[in-house]
Amino acid sequence: MYEVFVIKEGYSTSEGPGQQKACGTCTLVKGPHNIIVDTGNPWDKDTILQGLAKHDILPSNIGYVVCTHGHSDHVGNLNLFSNAIQIVSYDICVGDQYLMHDFKEGIPYEIDDDVEVIPTPGHTGADVSVIVKGTAYGTVAITGDLFECMEDLENPHLWQQSSEKPELQEQNRADILQMADIIIPGHGSMFQVPDSCKRQMQMVLLFEEFSESFQISTFSQKALE
Ligand SMILES: [Zn+2]
Repeated sequence: MYEVFVIKEGYSTSEGPGQQKACGTCTLVKGPHNIIVDTGNPWDKDTILQGLAKHDILPSNIGYVVCTHGHSDHVGNLNLFSNAIQIVSYDICVGDQYLMHDFKEGIPYEIDDDVEVIPTPGHTGADVSVIVKGTAYGTVAITGDLFECMEDLENPHLWQQSSEKPELQEQNRADILQMADIIIPGHGSMFQVPDSCKRQMQMVLLFEEFSESFQISTFSQKALE
């Protein structure tokens, strides 16, 4: 069974017009494979090493590093993990060997039965999220900036302002809200998906199903006439 620990909680604060302080969340997924999701800013090296040491883990014990997207506050310490399989956005490499994988077509990369890396674009054109199933808290989604922070559920401006493809991001957010019990966002504390969100999503899905079948039945009726 996997356990998930936030090594450094990301943040983002406005410092006046056009100025912002930010750092991405860095997460350890500990279990049959040790996995780091996002590696913080370049000056977070010691925080990451200390965070791993608390779990008796050396950088050489990390099997996979996943960077949810290529922004500097998420990829700052990749070179601590030169032994690991590295997944950065849609690229997968081991040393200088690049492995072909069709994230673009929506295909997940399975690390094992409990952990997969799935494409969740929107914040950039090629974001990925890590889904960890069967933890003590249920399914945990480590999403990078697909979710900025819990508050962005109520205040969409918080994620929309840095979104390259808002419609795509909206769809991927809805999918994650459906599948996850816990979300670890890119720039805020981990949070439980509120039941109200799940109910809302179910309503949307039911409505879509209903309007689709309605269209099909009116269409077939038209065809009969
Ligand atoms: Zn970020």
